[in-house]
Amino acid sequence: MGMLDIKSLSTSELKGWTESISHKPFRADQIQNWLFKGLVDSFDVMENVPVDLRDKLKYHFRIQSLEESNRLESTDGTIKFAFKTHDGHFIETVLIPARERFSVCVSTQIGCAMGCTFCRTATMGFIRNLETGEILEQIIRVKRLLAEQGADVTNIIFMGMGEPLQNLDNVHRACVTLHERKHLNMGAKRLTISTSGVVPKIFELIERETPCHLAVSLNGTNDEMRSKIMPVNRRWPMAELLGACDAYTQKTGNEVTFEYVMIQGITCTPQAAKELLKITQQRSCKVNAILINASENPAHLPPTQKEVDEFLDIVRAGEVKITMRTPRGRDILAACGQLAIKQKKVASC
Ligand code: SAH
Ligand code: SF4
Repeated sequence: MGMLDIKSLSTSELKGWTESISHKPFRADQIQNWLFKGLVDSFDVMENVPVDLRDKLKYHFRIQSLEESNRLESTDGTIKFAFKTHDGHFIETVLIPARERFSVCVSTQIGCAMGCTFCRTATMGFIRNLETGEILEQIIRVKRLLAEQGADVTNIIFMGMGEPLQNLDNVHRACVTLHERKHLNMGAKRLTISTSGVVPKIFELIERETPCHLAVSLNGTNDEMRSKIMPVNRRWPMAELLGACDAYTQKTGNEVTFEYVMIQGITCTPQAAKELLKITQQRSCKVNAILINASENPAHLPPTQKEVDEFLDIVRAGEVKITMRTPRGRDILAACGQLAIKQKKVASC
C-alpha cells in the first residue's frame, strides 16, 4: 500500500497522475466517484476501473488513513468518534444531528498551538497538521454511518481540534474537494471555517477564494481581556482582526459569524456586552454565543442565567443578531472546546 492518501489529491492532480501512467484522465473522475459517492474503502471494488490501474493505485496510494478507535453517543443524539491516525495519534470528529440537519465538526490538526485558556484542545499542545485526506475521511466515515439510515451530511464545520487557518493549504484543498459539484457537491455556505484570528491567513483565504463561510472566535471585546484568554490576540490585535473581517465581507458579500464563549466575570459582563455591541453594530455580522463548557481551567466558570439575560438584553437593544447556542454532547465531552485525547504513541515494531 502506498503512503499517500488518494483523497489528498485534487481532481486535476489525479488526472495528471492517470495520464502519467498512460491512462485516460476520465479515470480520475471514476475513481473519485467511488471515493466520494460510493464511499468505498477498497480499490478492489472499483469495477469500472481497469485491473492494472487498480493495481497501480494500490501500489501508490492508501485509501484509508484512519482507524476508528472509539464511538460515544450522547443522550442528545450527538456522536463523537475517536480515530487513530496512521502514525498512532488520535483525533476526534463529532456528528451533530438537528432536525433536518446533520452537521459534522471536523478536526484539522492533532492538538492546537494557539493556547486559548478556556479550551481543552489547547492542553494537548500541537502535534501535527492533518493531511487533506485525513480531513476528508472524517466526513466520509460519518457519511457512511448516515447512509445506513438514508441520511447524509448537510453541513461541515471546521471546529474540531486545531486551528484550521494554521493548516490552510490542506483545509483549502479539502473545501475545494467538498465543493466539487460532480462529487460531494457541498455549497460554500454549508462549509464553515472557524478561526481564533490568524489575520494574514484570513486574507489568504479571501485571496484564494476558498469555498467556505467564515466564523471568527471573538470571545473578547477589548485587547487587554482578549489577550489574556487568547494569546493569538497579542500577535494580531482586535483592530487588525476586525479589519480582516471587514475585508472578507467586502470581498465576498457574506456576513461574518462571531463565536462568543460566555465566561463568568470575563466575557459575560455588562461592560463586555456594551463593547460587543460597539463592535458588531457597525458590521454585517451575527453573533453565536455559547456558555463555556467545562474546561480544565478552574478560573473559568459559566455565568448565571441572570448574568446571561442581562448580557443579551444589552446586545439585543442595539439590534444585533445574537443567538445563544445550546451545547451539544456535553455528557460525552463532545461539545465546543472539549475535544482532547491524551496522545500515546502506539508501540511499533
Ligand atoms: N480553532 C478554531 C476552531 C476550533 S475551536 C477556533 O478557535 O475558532 C471551536 C470553537 O470552540 C471556537 O469558537 C472556540 O471559541 C470554542 N470553544 C473553545 N473552548 C470552549 C469551551 N470550553 N466552551 C465553549 N466553547 C469553546
Ligand atoms: Fe485552538 Fe480553537 Fe481551542 Fe483556541 S479555541 S486552543 S484556537 S482549538
